Amino acid sequence: MSKESILVCGSGIAGLAMALGLARAGFQASLLGPRTPPKALGPDVYHPRVYAISSSSQALLDRLGVWNMLDMARVTPVEAMEVYGDASGAVHLHAWQAAQTNLAWIVESGELERVLQQAVQVFGIVWHAERFQRLESSTVFTDTGRALKPDLLVGADGAQSAVRKAAGISHKSRAYGDQGVVVHLTSELPSQNVAMQWFTGESILALLPMPDTSDGHQVSMVWSVPDDMAKTLLALPESERNQQLETRLLAATGGRLGRLRVRSPMFGFPLFLESSGMVAPGVALISDAAHRVHPLAGQGLNLGLGDVHDLLNVLTSKESYRRVGDTRVLSRYRRARAEPILAMSMTTDGLHRLFANRTAAASWGRNTGMQMVDRIPFLKRMLIGGAGR
Ligand SMILES: Cc1cc2nc3c(=O)[nH]c(=O)nc-3n(C[C@H](O)[C@H](O)[C@H](O)COP(=O)(O)OP(=O)(O)OC[C@H]3O[C@@H](n4cnc5c(N)ncnc54)[C@H](O)[C@@H]3O)c2cc1C
Repeated sequence: MSKESILVCGSGIAGLAMALGLARAGFQASLLGPRTPPKALGPDVYHPRVYAISSSSQALLDRLGVWNMLDMARVTPVEAMEVYGDASGAVHLHAWQAAQTNLAWIVESGELERVLQQAVQVFGIVWHAERFQRLESSTVFTDTGRALKPDLLVGADGAQSAVRKAAGISHKSRAYGDQGVVVHLTSELPSQNVAMQWFTGESILALLPMPDTSDGHQVSMVWSVPDDMAKTLLALPESERNQQLETRLLAATGGRLGRLRVRSPMFGFPLFLESSGMVAPGVALISDAAHRVHPLAGQGLNLGLGDVHDLLNVLTSKESYRRVGDTRVLSRYRRARAEPILAMSMTTDGLHRLFANRTAAASWGRNTGMQMVDRIPFLKRMLIGGAGR
């Protein structure tokens, strides 16, 4: 019997990982999406987007043979986390408390794209550098008029997924009314591989450890703030914007890392909570095409790589008489993902609601809760498991 063909639409990190995993598992995988090699950067310059890669994602990337291709001088292990509430609440999590070496790794998007694109090339995966346009009776048409008829179409084409729309897969979306503002900073004091987060009531600030540069110690910021605040900040002239941010950061962090100075361009990303029906006959969605969560736990891409892992498992363990696009096979994938996606959506949304509530009672409740968590080893181990998933 000839190999079944699977077309992955979308050439972001999730799509590249999916195509590679399928090819390694013996499927006839091909890719459809723009081919944009990430810029090669000097040792002191870092891609604007970085991800906290969980241990499960790290294991998947290792299985795909790309983890060792990363430039390890640009990858930072996270050995501990410090989470602060808006009053006296604080939780300190160490990897050793859960017998783990690291909680996560901070990796640039460009580095992940670079190694995945290289591996896709080495595996000789056919890559149509075109865009998906429409789906008619299981035939995919691209924007150049090419017609492709895969046995299964995987939609990895991001939050605005055209595949999702064409396949008529249900989709729910709620805007948080917040933006995630990202920038790299030089810190006066070293972060010592500790990721830090402050829930301040009106915003959530995360500082992720990064490699030192010739300017000094470096951290990457993800600051979730209301839309209007982000827009006002981003519209300011550069020097005023940087100065305002630096003053606010010093106040929000209480000087934990000393003075923080902006060292890269700044970007804002609108934040959403989204879910979808995941599958239709002959079609499966993965990653942002299927769901989005608040970045406060740094888990969006990890959830997407979890989709890659579970879809690969379902496809490689199916009965030989079933086709890859069979509704029964795809329903197994939907069921496998239902719980992790719901759990992550509820956790991140719940935390966002809890900390966005500015009443005195809510503030007392969350800060007392954080103090309790900090004193109970069992609860901490559970939280570390979650932080590393
Ligand atoms: C501020 C912020 C911080 C975050 N931090 C983290 C973190 O620390 N850890 C983490 O795990 N996640 C994090 N996330 C989430 C993460 O950014 C996303 O989940 C991840 O980028 C999704 O990857 P993807 O490959 O699914 O989608 P994308 O990166 O959007 O890729 C989609 C691809 O599809 C292509 N495409 C689009 N339309 C078409 C078409 N019609 N035809 C063909 N191709 C098409 C695009 O060109 C692109 O290549 C964060 C998100 C935000 C906003």
